[in-house]
This record gives sequence, C-alpha cells and structure tokens, in this order.
Amino acid sequence: MTAPASLAERERLAAAGALDVERLRASFPILDQEVHGHSLVYLDNAASSQRPEAVIEAVSDCYRTYYANAHRGVHALSERSTDEYEAARGKVARFVGAGKDSEIVFTRGTTESLNLVAQSYARPRLLPGDEVLLTEMEHHSNIVPWQLVCEQTGARVRAAPITDGGDLDLAAMAGLIGERTRVVAVAHVSNALGTVNDVAAVARLVRDRSDAAVVVDGAQAVPHMQVDVSALGCDFYAFSGHKMYGPGGIGALWGRGELLASMPPYHGGGAMITRVTFERTEYTVPPHRFEAGTPSIAPAIGLGVAVEFLESLGLERIERHEQALLSHSLEQLNDLPWVQVLGQPPGGESPRAAVLSLVIDGAHPHDAATILDEQGIAIRAGHHCAQPLMERLGVPATVRASFGMYNTHEEVDRLISGLHEVRRIFG
Ligand code: PLP
Repeated sequence: MTAPASLAERERLAAAGALDVERLRASFPILDQEVHGHSLVYLDNAASSQRPEAVIEAVSDCYRTYYANAHRGVHALSERSTDEYEAARGKVARFVGAGKDSEIVFTRGTTESLNLVAQSYARPRLLPGDEVLLTEMEHHSNIVPWQLVCEQTGARVRAAPITDGGDLDLAAMAGLIGERTRVVAVAHVSNALGTVNDVAAVARLVRDRSDAAVVVDGAQAVPHMQVDVSALGCDFYAFSGHKMYGPGGIGALWGRGELLASMPPYHGGGAMITRVTFERTEYTVPPHRFEAGTPSIAPAIGLGVAVEFLESLGLERIERHEQALLSHSLEQLNDLPWVQVLGQPPGGESPRAAVLSLVIDGAHPHDAATILDEQGIAIRAGHHCAQPLMERLGVPATVRASFGMYNTHEEVDRLISGLHEVRRIFG
C-alpha cells in the first residue's frame, strides 16, 4: 500500500470535494487485516459490502441496551425498540425519496421484496396470456419470482434484449410492451456488467404503451448513486441492506402508497392484523400488513445508520470516487489484450457502475479467483446469479471485481498485478 497521505494532501482533497478514503477505511474494521500474508483487497462489494463501525455499534447497542420486541409491549424497552425501528423506516424512506414512511416495507432483502411484489401485486392481477417483461441482464432474483407467479396464473415471462455491449435495447423493449404487459421489471444497475439502466426512460416507455407496473431491482444502485423513486417514475423499488454497508437479513421495498394499499398480505401472522377470528381476519394497513411476525429489529436500526453514513459522505462524492476507480481500472485493462472486459464497450451508450466482469484468456474464472485470493484479493467468480445473461454473452462465467466507497487506486493496481500473476501461471 502507499504511504499515508500528508495532512496537506488530505485537506486539499477535502476542499476539492473528494472522499477522504484513507480516513473512511479506518471506519471499516474488517478491512484492516492480512489474508494469506497480504493486506486484504476487498473487491466483492456487489455480493456484499462491509459495515462501518457506526453500523456495527448501532446493532450491538440495540442488543446491549434496549432490545425488546417492537409493536408489542407497553414497557419501556419495547417502546424504545419500536421508536428506533420506525425511525429507521423514516430514514430509509427519505433516503430513496419516498413520499411517506408507510411506503417502505422492511423485508429480508431484494429477493424477498421482489417476491412480495410478484405474489401480492401481480398474482391477483395476472390472467392467462398476460405478460411480465424482464430484461436479459436480470439477476435470478428478478426472474424466478416472476416465473413462479406466471406458473401460478398462466401468464408468461418475456425478456427485452440487450446489445452486444451490454446496454438495454430500449427500442426493442418498446416493441415488446403491449396491452398484455402487466409488469415490467428491470435492474437499475446490472450486478454482472455494471450497466446503469435509464429507469426513468423505461418507465416513460411503459406509461406510453400500457398500464403495467414498473418494478425496479435497485440492489446494485442504492450504495453507489443517489436514488429518487419519485423522479424515476417507477411503482416499486427493491433493495438490500447488506449491499449498502448495512446489516444482513434486512432490506426494503418501496411501493406507491395506493398500490400497497390495494394489495393483500404476502405472509400471515402476528402484527399484520386488526382482528382475527376463525372465520376471517382483517388486515392492518401498509407497511405493517406486509411485515408479519417479529421483524428484524436490530438490523433495521443498523440499516437506518448505514443510510445516515452514506448521506454524511454524499452519494455524489461516492459515485465520483468509484467512477475514478473504474476509469483507472479500464485504462490499465485496455493494455492487457488477454483480458476481455464484458459490457464495457468504448463509448457505450449507458453509464456504468464500478463493476468489472472479466474473461481471462486460458484461465478459468475459478482458478483465477483462487490465484487472486492467494494474493489477498477477494473477487467473485461464477455466473453471478445471472445465467441467462451469461448465455446471452456466450460465456459460462466471469471474474467479477466490484468496487465500493473504500477501495483505492492502489487496490486497482494490486488487482492488475494479480491478473498478471494469473497470466504468468496459465500463460
Ligand atoms: N438483484 C441484484 C441486481 C443483485 O445483485 C442481488 C444480489 O446479488 C439481488 C438482486 C439479490 O439480493 P439479496 O440476495 O440481497 O436478496
């Protein structure tokens, strides 16, 4: 690693609005360790990011000092837990530009959020012959829930094509939206290619051609760019805490208030009812209607702190830093003819988040990952839960390096040296 920046240099960066990455890294205890005798380079942020001390402390403070079940007791600890849990909902709501706190449903993550929309919004509305339109770049979480609901209703899944360079083909997508289209579900950012889809343009296409709901998988967007669900013009937006520097086991679904109010519950149990008899049950209002059972109280509180952490740094500054890492990587990768960067065409149409999907001549992605791991570099190898995308691109798997706010230019250089080592071994 490079020598610590001087105070003068850090002040210069702060004045220029740049992230003080060195100081930021000190907030993430897990980053300060050696793996196989090398300082850890964590480049698997698209799978799961790491958590700052403030989030770890908030979760542990909850368990150490005030944890009790929320929305249940009248005793002081339960009231405090309830207040903190609901305050976290408010923080998450403001973070994504929701009109009301009640438009945020806490879930286990993006996967559960998308299943909720498929079962509670789509299932009662889909008829045989109706269509759910996805794209070729979706994560399995934004494919399988729709296949399940289509099997249950007789509707069918269709997929809008992408270009060879990994952009969504909006013109072709427009041609697939018709009067049978009931749902259009797209990733805001592709977890495998980093493509940032123009969700607002997709929503306009849909509104012009149908009354389909626009569902956005925002798992890879919220940690990396400012998201405003009102400006996007979508109906549902799903995301996960563990990818945005928050705890695992918690995530959220934003849904338009009037749509949530029209939807039946997804799960049944305690906390989502107003009255239960053996004959029938009356359900309470959203969001509690969709939060059956004891919620993930401490993780939700931790998520609220993660949101504050992101806001304190500023999403624009985070995005600028990650884009600089992406450019630095691409400049060097362009000089390696034996590495192909998927979905990063020179002058590609859509912006890209800092995700690199690499194919290395002569080296299987899993072997490459092992060699990188031996050098302390954590990346992911595989199909990235996007098998249809891999098939479209004609590769079984890739090496994926995905960046977060705390990564540095020196870590990019370590990755590039690591790739040279892969090349040396597999020649
Ligand atoms: N959607 C995208 C684009 C993802 O990258 C992921 C996780 O990798 C998911 C959905 C699923 O998220 P989770 O496993 O947190 O539910």
